[in-house]
Amino acid sequence: MPTILIVEDEAAIADTVLYALRSEGLEAEHLLLGREAVPRLRAGGIDVVVLDVGLPDVSGFDVCRELRGFSDVPVIFLTARNDEIDRVLGLELGADDYVTKPFSPRELVARVRARLRRIAATAEAAPGSGWTRRGAFAIDEDGHRIRFHDQALDLTRYEYALLAALLQRPGAILSRAQLMDRCWDGDSESADRTIDTHVKTLRGKLRAVVSMLGDCGNDADPIRTHRGLGYAIEA
Ligand code: CA
Repeated sequence: MPTILIVEDEAAIADTVLYALRSEGLEAEHLLLGREAVPRLRAGGIDVVVLDVGLPDVSGFDVCRELRGFSDVPVIFLTARNDEIDRVLGLELGADDYVTKPFSPRELVARVRARLRRIAATAEAAPGSGWTRRGAFAIDEDGHRIRFHDQALDLTRYEYALLAALLQRPGAILSRAQLMDRCWDGDSESADRTIDTHVKTLRGKLRAVVSMLGDCGNDADPIRTHRGLGYAIEA
């Protein structure tokens, strides 16, 4: 699970951010001082840093500069004033993003998620990573894992097998009998109903991802039903 480190001396702001991140299923840690942040980051295991610029001991800029000496972990600055923003943009500190106070926790969580998606996309693109892109999907056949819009799908064995079979040739129609043959061991009495039931739960999971990401014009139902023929995937 991704872990976010928040370095912020105002406890009320930190608590709001911690709550927002944790309620989104992310791990979050909090430190009050800049001096504590560097050793924590050296210890590893942090995926994104949310770093206040105005800390009481050393500035967020100093923390970031030191951090960049040993790590490329994404940094999102929390800035309070316009002159701080100018410095974030001007100093080429290697900051990845910034949010101006006051900010909505939702906005910050969205920025954190955007960073995490970029990390995932970079890892997938790396040679030998095992991930293959298919449009909005990425599949790791060795690991039996599929991502949709960079979100991991929690699939049952048969849902995975069905989606993997469809993703082998996007656009190609597979009949229910073909899907049964590829995805299930042995015969089933009611192939059509079995396939339809699993396609239905699969669609529900894809739709949940699209609705979680908000209305960005994404295709909420990439599995196409071709009457009398079977199913195909748009990818
Ligand atoms: Ca502060």
